[in-house]
Amino acid sequence: MEANRVYNFNPGPATQPLEVLKEAQAEFLNFKGTGESIIEISHRAKEFEAVLDQAKADILSLMGLGDDYDVLFLQGGASTQFAMIPMNFARDGKVGSYVVSGSFAEKAYKEAEILGVGHIAATSKDDDFRHVPTQDEIKIADNAAYLHLCYNNTIYGTEYHYIPETNGVPLVADMSSDMLSRPLDFSKFTFIYAGAQKNLGPAGVVVVVAKKSFIDVKHKDIPTMLRYGIHLEKNSLYNTPPAFCIYMVGKTVAWIKAQGGLSAMAERNAKKAKILYDAIDNSNGFYKGHAAKDSRSFMNVTFRLPSEELEKKFVDEAKAKSLCGVKGHRSVGGMRASIYNAMSIEGVERLADFMESFRKANA
Ligand SMILES: *Cc1c(COP(=O)(O)O)cnc(C)c1O
Repeated sequence: MEANRVYNFNPGPATQPLEVLKEAQAEFLNFKGTGESIIEISHRAKEFEAVLDQAKADILSLMGLGDDYDVLFLQGGASTQFAMIPMNFARDGKVGSYVVSGSFAEKAYKEAEILGVGHIAATSKDDDFRHVPTQDEIKIADNAAYLHLCYNNTIYGTEYHYIPETNGVPLVADMSSDMLSRPLDFSKFTFIYAGAQKNLGPAGVVVVVAKKSFIDVKHKDIPTMLRYGIHLEKNSLYNTPPAFCIYMVGKTVAWIKAQGGLSAMAERNAKKAKILYDAIDNSNGFYKGHAAKDSRSFMNVTFRLPSEELEKKFVDEAKAKSLCGVKGHRSVGGMRASIYNAMSIEGVERLADFMESFRKANA
């Protein structure tokens, strides 16, 4: 660990690979001999377009997708996608069918509801979002334009361990908090999106990976910036893109490739998650996991302590040991350790050691 840097378990913005940060720092004043910074050069410059195109190519190759898919870099956060998706696709008597598995899944559904096209295919709200709905629980609307999932529920700490079968209905997934964390058969998804600030880089850009044929729509009754087809046609350069964010995402995906790609990420992420879930499961009930075991997230590990007083003490003492950002979301309470790709095994081991010593001192 670099001197003066902490172990950052925040959910997003989140920890980023140190190598990526250092590379960006080293070339900040003079990008590739241009004599300018990446935030100063024109977004029409060939040097910038090369950065954008390389990032796209690396994302598609990591995901094992061919040229029937394309990558868009958009703004407005994942939250703007919640609105753009129903606007562009749930039309002409069709609805968006939603699996409501947590807070962000519900927010996505609510945007469709505003447009009068929301349908709930399944929800685990009754269960306080401890589990991800199973295939049997999901009832897709007959007139569904798509089925929308939130693949990793950042706040509750649950994640899909299967890809739902939709019988031909396009599958749309918010992967903001588990994008590029493990290999999946991505060809089963028609449209995937992720706010970058968890697993891919800085806040300010959303990465969309989607079938070109699906997003090649330019309905005239939708404001221009909100039409996917425009961004597809213009290679995400319809207006000034968030150049620095795209550059950082490019560096992060290159880093993932250099680490061995998604299977290497998955192996490390599973190892890290196991260390923390073991610490919970072997604590004689001192720590209680929020998620049902078969829905546990590899990315966000949520747990509670016996009292709120102890939870506060845990946060303060962890921070004193440079283990930062472990406080859970207010809607769940307790703790949440976000252990995205960039979190080291060492950081997770330190947290598990701290959990053990804290339990011994306070049980
Ligand atoms: C953080 C998060 C969002 C919200 O992203 P913004 O970029 O802040 O709009 C949406 N979905 C999931 C799964 C998230 O983790």
